Amino acid sequence: MTDYAIQLRAVSRVFGAHGARVTALDRVSLGFRRGTFTAVMGPSGSGKSTLLQCAAGLDRPTAGSVTVGGTELTGLSERGLTLLRRERVGFVFQSFNLLPSLTAEQNVALPLRLAGRRPPKDGVREVLRQVGLGDRAAHRPAELSGGQQQRVALARALITRPEVLFGDEPTGALDSRTGHEVLSLLRAMADTEGRTIVMVTHDPVAAARADRVVFLVDGRVSGELAGATAAGIATRLTELEAVPC
Ligand code: ADP
Ligand code: MG
Repeated sequence: MTDYAIQLRAVSRVFGAHGARVTALDRVSLGFRRGTFTAVMGPSGSGKSTLLQCAAGLDRPTAGSVTVGGTELTGLSERGLTLLRRERVGFVFQSFNLLPSLTAEQNVALPLRLAGRRPPKDGVREVLRQVGLGDRAAHRPAELSGGQQQRVALARALITRPEVLFGDEPTGALDSRTGHEVLSLLRAMADTEGRTIVMVTHDPVAAARADRVVFLVDGRVSGELAGATAAGIATRLTELEAVPC
């Protein structure tokens, strides 16, 4: 066993065929250590979302291998992948993707119901408390602010106690103060619960909360920074975007 929660080895993902081929990921090799928080940055279309989807078992690479907690995803059946997605990884998106007709509590319980498990009321309330929404359990999404809705989405991702939590621009639709609150929750999940966090962001201030920033350009890893400041990250991003195509 390694202390890597996720390992990608020479992962490529090609979309389309013949004349319309797009290489979204081009032989990406990356490891994410347990209990660390990594930000993924890069220009639009550089493969950030595809990287997350392949690492989370939501998409299958064209070539290469992905290992989550020692399980090689390449060899898994659709059923095996479904179980992995359900039990071992969590995902939050920029658009919160909550069901509007369900209360916060029912939204959080949904992954357990879909897995055919009876959601323990205490467990659901506990996760809502953890994201600071203990008193909003009976509210529907329309009765919550954007930051609160994203925290419900976070609670829903956490209810199965996943080893790895992926966020694809989870603070992209939030103002900076609420974004900061969500980032603090992600940071705490790595620090106090040892979960592995991988987050795509365009915001250098958000990325500076991570332990490490990985930069993608044209589907390749173009470099990384550890323990960087927002200013250092912003400078690197400007350099990346200035690279001629
Ligand atoms: P990012 O998240 O960095 O903006 P993506 O991973 O979404 O980038 O996309 C990387 C490249 O792959 C882009 O050129 C995009 O158009 C292409 N792509 C992503 N998903 C698909 C798809 N389902 N079909 C075809 N092309 C895709
Ligand atoms: Mg994207």
